[in-house]
Amino acid sequence: MEFDTIAAISTPMGEGAIAIVRLSGDQAIEIANKLFRGVKGKKLIDVDSHTIHYGHIIDPKTGEVAEEVMVSVMKGRKTFTAEDVVEINCHGGLVSVNRVLKLTLIAGARLAEPGEFTKRAFLNGRIDLSQAEAVMDLIRAKTDRAMNVALGQMEGRLSNLIRRLRQEILETLAHVEVNIDYPEYDDVEEMTHKLLFEKATLVREEIKKLLQTSEQGKILREGLSTVIIGRPNVGKSSLLNSLVHENKAIVTDIPGTTRDVIEEYVNVRGVPLRLLDTAGIRETEDIVERIGVERSRQVLKEADLLLLVLNSSEELTKEDENLFKAVDGFDSIVIINKTDLPQKMDLARVKQLARKSKLITTSLLEDKGIDELEEAIASLYFEGSIEAGDITYVSNSRHISLLNLALQSIEDALHGVEAGIPIDMIQIDLTRTWEILGEIIGDSVHESLIDQLFSQFCLGK
Ligand code: GDP
Repeated sequence: MEFDTIAAISTPMGEGAIAIVRLSGDQAIEIANKLFRGVKGKKLIDVDSHTIHYGHIIDPKTGEVAEEVMVSVMKGRKTFTAEDVVEINCHGGLVSVNRVLKLTLIAGARLAEPGEFTKRAFLNGRIDLSQAEAVMDLIRAKTDRAMNVALGQMEGRLSNLIRRLRQEILETLAHVEVNIDYPEYDDVEEMTHKLLFEKATLVREEIKKLLQTSEQGKILREGLSTVIIGRPNVGKSSLLNSLVHENKAIVTDIPGTTRDVIEEYVNVRGVPLRLLDTAGIRETEDIVERIGVERSRQVLKEADLLLLVLNSSEELTKEDENLFKAVDGFDSIVIINKTDLPQKMDLARVKQLARKSKLITTSLLEDKGIDELEEAIASLYFEGSIEAGDITYVSNSRHISLLNLALQSIEDALHGVEAGIPIDMIQIDLTRTWEILGEIIGDSVHESLIDQLFSQFCLGK
């Protein structure tokens, strides 16, 4: 495919030691060459691919030096976009990179849209859609483990699995055609039903296995939305502070998304917790009292995990009991705090109320119990370990919903076989499964979806 040449600043806006202006397209090297003054008259159009060169960026109109740079020249197809790519490494200031970017635009490049570099990699066939989506996940990964999942996906792990399943379906369909066209046996109908049943079962199991990883995958990717609740003064803020303090907090303000609020992430043994900010906690303080148990349950619905804090140095109150009612049925951990003070709380009663929730005793004042709490959180979602290892996690909601659709249509096929309906009807369900799986890797996806997906990227990627 042929595209015009695009340019963008590929490093975050702000001050840094180095900033990069990236160009991609047929004219990339020529445009950079127009602006480049190398040592001893070196020209970028003459250099080997994948080499880096020292020199200056010159404003061709005035002849003035705009920047001192290192320029990497990479010829397609072995580049990120599969096109010719030039990266101009500038000094980090905003003014200097902007000046270089402007000069590339005057020299003939077009300002890239968000995600356009990655989109080109996809359109040029270098990566498939799930790999392109992984690029975005990689940029946004909050913990090492989330990053490993994204890396695995970028390397094509999920794509390979999906391709294998599609191939399986295709071969089955072909086999069925052959059976029908050249029947070897008299009982061809029965044989074909049997074949379809075996293969469809296999595909169904694989899809199910993938979907089973989706809850964990989603947690790793998006973080576990966590709300700390409890009566006033039981130690909610102290808990938040301990969690943030012990685990390097990752404060993110994701650019290019509609969500402007700053979210606080903490990395608890590889599980990214997305904690409500302190203001949010203050609001939930008397949430149950204010709006009642039923409505609180509605509000809390958004949360993946609730941490219910109690004060062990006071007797259980009616409010505490209501809080238990509000969290019933959610994933929750009950934290019995202030154990350094004389105990007044009826622990047997707490155990009864907590039902299946794990109980953890803490003294946040004395820094006790946080380890146990972290262990409890991690083991609630990941038994033993969350090493990415050889598991392929599905983490992206688009993939998850497509896999659910694929599961549905393969189950339709299986029911069809069981009910003994005509084979051509079953073929339709199988074909549909094949198509839906194709959407995950970007075969047969609609152009507007592609535009929308890539527009969520940051500029310069
Ligand atoms: P919140 O209103 O639920 O957010 O509670 P805070 O975290 O603000 O804590 C209320 C008070 O309890 C503060 O004075 C804390 O220092 C104190 N506190 C918190 N945890 C403990 C604890 O484990 N032991 C004792 N003795 N005091 C604590």
